[in-house]
Order: sequence, then C-alpha cells, then structure tokens
Amino acid sequence: MTERVCLVHYHEIGLKGKNRSTFENRLLANIAHALRGQTASRVKRISGHLLVEDESGFAQDSMARAIARVPGVARVSLAYRCPLDEQSYCEAAVRALGEVQTPWQSFKVHARRSSTNYEKHTLEMNQIVGAALCAAFPTKKVLMHGPDIQVIVHAVQGDVYVYADTGPGVGGLPVGTAGKVVSLFSSGFDSPVATWMVGRRGAICVPVHFSGRPMTSDSSEWLCQDLVEALAPSGIVGRMYVVPFGEKQREISLAVPQSLRVIMYRRVMFAVAERIAHMEGAKALVTGESLGQVASQTLENIAVVNEMVSLPVLRPLIGSDKQEIMRRAEELGTFEISSQDAPDCCTLFMPRRPETHARPDQVREAWGLFDHDAMIDELVGALEYVDFDQCPSYKPPRMLRARHRELLPAYE
Ligand code: ATP
Ligand code: MG
Repeated sequence: MTERVCLVHYHEIGLKGKNRSTFENRLLANIAHALRGQTASRVKRISGHLLVEDESGFAQDSMARAIARVPGVARVSLAYRCPLDEQSYCEAAVRALGEVQTPWQSFKVHARRSSTNYEKHTLEMNQIVGAALCAAFPTKKVLMHGPDIQVIVHAVQGDVYVYADTGPGVGGLPVGTAGKVVSLFSSGFDSPVATWMVGRRGAICVPVHFSGRPMTSDSSEWLCQDLVEALAPSGIVGRMYVVPFGEKQREISLAVPQSLRVIMYRRVMFAVAERIAHMEGAKALVTGESLGQVASQTLENIAVVNEMVSLPVLRPLIGSDKQEIMRRAEELGTFEISSQDAPDCCTLFMPRRPETHARPDQVREAWGLFDHDAMIDELVGALEYVDFDQCPSYKPPRMLRARHRELLPAYE
C-alpha cells in the first residue's frame, strides 16, 4: 500500500555533534506540538530525517505548510511511502513527478539506500526508475547536471520513500535549544519581527509589553496578544508579561526635563525587563531597535539606556531598513496587526523634542530626580501575564509569587 507522508529535512542540527539527538528530539516534540490541531499524526526519526505520518495515510499539503514554519526545519517533502518492490516505487515516482507544481523540462533520479538489505544497488534503481519516468513523460529530458527536478528514491529498511517536490522550511534551530530571552514587545512592526528572529535561532521568547494603562486604554495589550497568536506557528512564546506603566510615566514626566523623558522611560523598561529575565531564567534581552530609526535609537541614546542592564541585549534588526522589516512582517502575518494604531506607553507624555544625542552626565542627573528603585520594584510587583499554548519547552518560573517576594523584599 502506498501512503503519503511528510519527510522533514534539517541541516544545521547535523552540525551539532554530540547534541544531535537532543536537537532532533526537540524538533520532533516541536513539530508534534505544531500539528496538534490537525488529524492525529505521529512524528518519528528515520535515517537523518523526521517522518510525519497522518492517521488517514495521506498527509495533506496543509500539514507540510505547518511543519515548514517550525524553526529547525530546512525543507519539507511530501513523499510517497511504498513497499520495497520495483513496480511500487516506479509508480510512486511517476505520481510524485506528475504532481510537481512548478513548470519543468528536465529531471534526474537520485536513489539512496539506508539500513536495507535490498538486492538492487542505487545505480540499478536509478536506471529502473529513470526508464519508467521516461516512458511516462516522453517529452521531458533526463539531465545529469542541473536538472529542473530531482526525483529522490530512498530505500530505508523495508520501505521506499519517493518524492520530487520539496518546499523550503523556515530554517534556524529548534526552539528550546538556545535558552530563553525576554523580548521588549510593542505592537509596532519591529519587535515582533525581532522576537521571531531570535526565536528562529532556538530561543524561547518571553515578550514583555509596557502598556500606558491606566492613562490609555488597553488596546495595545490586545494587539500584542494578537501578534503573539500570529507567531504561533513558530511556537516561540509561552507567556507574555504586561506592565501597566501609565502612572509611572506620569511621575517621570513631571520629574525630569522634557527632552529626557523617553530615555527615562526606556531605562525603567530595561530595568524591569531584566528583573523579569532573572525571574524567568532568561539570559538576554531582545529589542526591535534599528540604528537611527527614531530619536531613541541613536548610538548615544542606545548607550545611556543599555547601561541599565548587565544582561546582553540582542538587537537582531539593528542593521535592517524599515522596508525589509515590513516585508518580513508580511511573511509572518504580523503586518496587518502592527498596522493598527494603539496608544501605548510610547505615545504617552511624548516630549515635543526628544533628545537625540543624550549626554551621560545629564541622563544620570535626571535619573536621580525620581525614586527609580522604588518605581522598578512596584512595576515588577504589579506584573500581569497571559499564557499561550505555543511553546512546549517553555517552563514558567516556579512559585512566581515566592520569587517575587525574594526579588522584592518590600513587596507584600
Ligand atoms: P516597534 O515597531 O517594535 O514598536 P519602534 O520603531 O516603534 O519599534 P521604539 O518605540 O523606539 O521603536 O522602540 C524600540 C524598541 O523598544 C522596540 O522595538 C521594542 O523592542 C521596545 N519597545 C518600544 N515600545 C515598547 C513597549 N510599549 N513595550 C515593550 N517594549 C517596547
Ligand atoms: Mg513602538
């Protein structure tokens, strides 16, 4: 009986030596999680690939599309699995080549064998399948170098996997293999893209959103939740924190020179994010900053905000243009959501002329004009969070309340 299955290819994992099986197991669990809404499927390892079987015996294109978005997947092929006999794999090859979507003129057969005692060798298999394909597609050419399509015929134990078309995956590494990061997350275009980029490299992402509540509505919080939902196919987020920041911004705006307000807000945001990172066991912060994009993103201003924290701050978009970021947002499905306007802490109490090249001595003087330590403690104490069932390797901090107490002796 011939079945259709998904074969998942990964390459970087192969480079990781001893870690290989940890990476493969992580990828397997992440794919199984990504497919939880689909018809019951099983994921298992075979000979340098992962194999995803559908209960119906016929894996659908939608399954391949969902798998392609999981970090760590280099390529996905919908393959026919048939018994190890000539007639079956030749028929499967004709079917697979006939289903190729892109226009093609030439092909080549590439047979492989792994852990099999099949009497035919790969050269012989190439010839047999090649002859069957030439008979079925008489107007097409066999080309040994640079064919349009390669038909893969892979004998593994007693089965043969046959495929001709293969789609690109998102690449990167399985989420959960690179530790955890806390990502400063607004409802704009940049930070969801930045978060996804770090997630694609295997990091579990914990977004933190500073809302202007109670001085603004909570609409930016809903947009952020929608954005996290849009990132769901990549499985990078387990929990998002929300920090109602409006009152504290008002305090800051009354205490410090107008031009330095934004820098003060951002220093407090970084400090709170770092506290969350310690609570979560995250080892870096992430922002969507891009050099010179807005006033707060000049080198001087980045420096005076960065000095607040000792964890590394990852800025995956620092050298990207807005156009590139928007293009990526479209691919990820975050573009429409980020296009909606919502007041958040960034739009609240904005100065008319924000400082673009802050001087460290002036910044430190302004920082002393309000009780920043108490403010940071209070904000950490007032944290709210929303959980998402996306990321199977996300572990929430144990006894969050107890850790709160530990971090905040003055709280409670
Ligand atoms: P974005 O499109 O991501 O909102 P931006 O172009 O609006 O970015 P800024 O407002 O200067 O730029 O923000 C720079 C970075 O600071 C953002 O990419 C994000 O990482 C962080 N940030 C901004 N606003 C918030 C917020 N309300 N909550 C959490 N982080 C924020
Ligand atoms: Mg913003």
